[in-house]
This record gives sequence, structure tokens and C-alpha cells, in this order.
Amino acid sequence: MALSRRHRHKLDFNDDIKLECHQPEPAQQILKAKEFSNNPMKILHLLLRLDLRRLILILTIVSVLITLLNSVYATYQVQRELLINNTLEANRVYAAKLAETTDTFLKTAQSQLKYSASLLATKMDDEPALLEETRRLHRQTNSFNSVIIVNADAMIVATSPATLQIKGIQLTSPSAIQSLDARQPLVTDPFLSVAGNYLISISHPIFATDGRYLGFVAGSIYLQGENILNRLLGQHHYKDGSYIYVVDRHGVMIYHLDQKRIGEQVTGNPVIAAVIRNQSGTANLINSHGTDMLAGFAPVPLSGWGVVAQRPSSATLAELDDQIRSVFIKILPLALLTLLFIWCSALLISRPLWQLAKNAREMDQQHAQESILAIRSWYFESALLKRAILKGVGLLNDKITQLNTDSHTDPMTGLYNRRGMQKVLDYYQEIQQPFAIIALDIDHFKGINDRHGHDTGDQVIKSLAQLMRNNARKGDALCRSGGEEFLILLPDTGGHVADNIAERLRQQVALYKLPAVSDITISLGVAYWPGNTAGINESLKRADRALYQAKRQGRNQVVVATEPMI
Ligand code: GH3
Ligand code: MG
Ligand code: MG
Repeated sequence: MALSRRHRHKLDFNDDIKLECHQPEPAQQILKAKEFSNNPMKILHLLLRLDLRRLILILTIVSVLITLLNSVYATYQVQRELLINNTLEANRVYAAKLAETTDTFLKTAQSQLKYSASLLATKMDDEPALLEETRRLHRQTNSFNSVIIVNADAMIVATSPATLQIKGIQLTSPSAIQSLDARQPLVTDPFLSVAGNYLISISHPIFATDGRYLGFVAGSIYLQGENILNRLLGQHHYKDGSYIYVVDRHGVMIYHLDQKRIGEQVTGNPVIAAVIRNQSGTANLINSHGTDMLAGFAPVPLSGWGVVAQRPSSATLAELDDQIRSVFIKILPLALLTLLFIWCSALLISRPLWQLAKNAREMDQQHAQESILAIRSWYFESALLKRAILKGVGLLNDKITQLNTDSHTDPMTGLYNRRGMQKVLDYYQEIQQPFAIIALDIDHFKGINDRHGHDTGDQVIKSLAQLMRNNARKGDALCRSGGEEFLILLPDTGGHVADNIAERLRQQVALYKLPAVSDITISLGVAYWPGNTAGINESLKRADRALYQAKRQGRNQVVVATEPMI
């Protein structure tokens, strides 16, 4: 019964089942393709098909991105707060410094005027001396745009520079006579002078030695144009939009880079409101141009003025953009490395599962078991899955083998049935395997059935099958081709050898004793298929004809078919 190892491998009947189960018909494939081409969503779904590897990859990218963005955002927030606080504090310190400088200047200016006033106490009638003193004050100190001396009748008695041409003029405006009325050191509010200059005046009263009030000496600071405030404050502005301004005690702008704003009464500005209340501090506010500003402010105690230093938030935060860019660039390589590492790990983790899944889909394939065994299931879950799938493959193989055996074997004798025999013949045909054919038939079997019953007849058939099996060589194929008819296919067996084998079998059957059955005999026909293009069926028919010739010639004999002339 057994075929050679090579043959048996080739004769694996699983082939049938594989074809039936797994090869889609061409028509089905065309239908499937049409179905997909008509449905873009299905194509998209196919492209986006989620497997474990992709899931891990997406998860990784999303988590790395979130972590990266989160750390950049946190850095941004912390740095932003730090920069804003630093700028506010720097502006406050700067405003305080400038306020102190201005205060010192005013004090110095007042002591200079005080000294002049003491000199002038005895010289109010000495015109050249008055003129000389105004010149000295004007040129020596360089603090004032002009210097004037006013007598107790509010008349200007001396001026420097002389070009002012206001000598002899009587002061009338309330602001101008503020100094006169005060009779004490004073820094006036801004006012328009008789010479047409918008100025503030720093004055000191002149008293005679007997205490009589003689008038005052005053230095003026022109608020528009070149002045001491410009020299003290103006050199400190930056190109990044930072600037400072000074307001008087009523919130009137007395110093600003933008000259047009000088003299403007500023209202509704919380910083100015605070600074003229003698407060110092910081604030984030929108300026008159709608720009977001970081301001520091401090008062000038002597005059009640306020100094404000401010910088646009955008200028401060521009640095932050650069910082964040460099943070991002520094984090990026590590983030990419992390991504690469997790991606490789994802591949390693998903690999055994992916291979198991792929093989599970092809569990009925011949190589499935070896492929699954070759998978490196290096962690617990994959090892469990591998074991489970291998078990499944084993069960499936057993079932398929069982089914094949059932469908190709005659259940009574265990020999090939017609279907099994056809498989063997197809295979020989395919590989052009020459073989000898012995066709045999039990003589007068009907009589055996009639005399001994059908069951005994079955027993005779089974016994004959066993005898045939005992006589077969490795590689011979034994078939029950009909009720009590059999075929033996003997590959690589020449005509004479096949005759002998047939004869030996005939003799053994004739000698074989069965209880309750008289001697049984068989008739045999022998033919040969040379493995050429000639049809196998023709050789089978010749073997059949030889068998019937044996029957006609008296049964219990072997007839060898005459080979056709080639
Ligand atoms: P011959 O010598 O010419 O071959 O005569 P024969 O009686 O053997 O020939 P025939 O073909 O007329 O009879 C075969 C008989 O075999 C007919 C059928 O009842 C019997 N038979 C076929 N299959 C089985 C079977 O499986 N079991 C039993 N017991 N009998 C069977
Ligand atoms: Mg028969
Ligand atoms: Mg018969």
C-alpha cells in the first residue's frame, strides 16, 4: 500500500482542499477589485488598516509630540513669566534711578539759585551785577535754558541770554507770578513764558539782609527743544521700542521722546495716576498707541513729578521666541531618538504577534507548522499564543489528514478507492512514471456470497486485501477498483517482474485457507505503461482485457497483455 517517500509527499491530497478553500476564483477576484474601486472609503480603510505596529507607532508619535509640546509650552510659560517680571523690575529700577538723578539735579539747581539769591541780596539796584549773575548762572551751570531775575514788583530786571529781550517786562500770568507769590524755593508747573517758550521754572526768593522780600532769581528749563532733562534722560532710550517719559505733579507730560506730546494732560493712565500719588512700582498696560507695555515708575520727591520707563511686551517676548526655538532644537534630537527607540521596540514587540497572526491566517498551509515554530516568541503572551496556534494547527492537520484518508480510502479494506487510485494515476502521468498494472478479480465470487452469505463474502474481500498488502513492495499502490476487483500499480517494475509478482499472488490466494469457505482463486491480467505520452487508460484497458482473457481461459491464472508495437 505504501508509496515511496517522494511519492507520498507529492501525493499530498491536501492540495485539493487548499484549492477549494483559499484560492479565490478569478471571477471573485475581479468582483472584489470592482467593489473596492467603486468605494473610496473601503480603499481608505484598507490603507489605514490598523495593525499593532501602526497602533504602537501612532501612540508613540502622539505621546512624544504631546510630551515635546508640553515641555516646550511649559518652558515658554515659565520663561515668559520670568522675562516679563525681569523687564518690569528692570524698568522700575531704571525709573527709580532716573527719578533720583532728576531729584538730585533739582536739588543742585536750587542750591545754585540759593547761592545766587544770597549774592544778589545787596545788588538788586546794581544792574551790571544782576546781568553778570544771570550770565554766570546760565553759562557756568549749563542747567538752565535761561536765567532771569525778577524784582518784588514782578518786573524782569535781568536776563540771560540777552537775546530774550524781555528785560523791563512786567510778569502777569498766574503761572509766572507763582514764584513771586510763593516767596520760597519753587519748581513751577509748566507754563508759556512771556518770550513764548513752554517751560518750567526753578526759582529761589531774594531777601534783603533785613528780611525784606526783593524778588526772585529763576532758571528755566524749556520743555520743547534741547534742555537739561534731555541730557539727563534722553540718552537712555533704546532701539527696541523702550522709552521713558516724565509727568509733572498734575499728570502733564513734561518730558517725552515724542516732542509733540509735551504739555499733554494725560488722563486715564493708571501708571501716571499712581506715580503722581508718589508711588513707585510696575504695571502691564496698553499705551496711547494701543501697544502692550511693561512699565516701571518712580516719583521725583522734590517736584512731585513722576518718571515712567517702559518697554513693549513684544520686544521682550521677541527674545523668548529665540529662546524657545533653541530649546526646541535642543530637545528635538533626543525626542527623535526616543521616537526611533520606541518605534524599534514597537517593531520587536509586534513582530511575533504579526507573524503569528499571518500564519494563523494560513494555518491549513503545508508549511504553517514549521513557520510558526520558527517564530521567535520572546515574551510571555506571544509564547502563549504560539503554543495555542501550534495546537490549533495540529488539530487542523489531523482533521484534514483524516478527511483525506476517508475520501481516498476504501473503508472496508483500507486500500485506495477509485478516487485515490485516480490521484496516483494522475501523479504518474504528471511525472511520466512508468509502471506495471496487475488487474485481479475473485473467481465465482457471486457463488461464495450465495453459499456462505454476504458477510463471509466481505471477509473474503478483506482477507484478499491483507494478502495483497503482505505481498506489496514499498511504493506499490493497492486499489479496490470495484466490488471484488482490484488493481495493483507497480512503479519502476518491468513486465517480467510484474508477471512473477502476479503469479506469486495467485498461488498464495489459491493456497490460502479460509474457515467455512472452500478454496478461492483469482484471475489476473498484467499490462505495462512505459511512461511515454501514450494514455494510461489504454494500458488499464489492456490489463482489464488480459484479466477477462484469463477468466475466459478457465480462471485462476495470469494473462500478460501483449504490448502494442511502438
Ligand atoms: P467471475 O468469476 O466471472 O468473476 O464471477 P463472479 O461471480 O465473481 O462475477 P460477478 O461479477 O458476476 O459477481 C460479483 C459479485 O460480487 C456480485 C456482487 O454481489 C458481489 N459483491 C460485490 N461487492 C461485494 C461486497 O462488497 N461484498 C460482498 N459480499 N459481495 C460483493
Ligand atoms: Mg467481477
Ligand atoms: Mg469475480
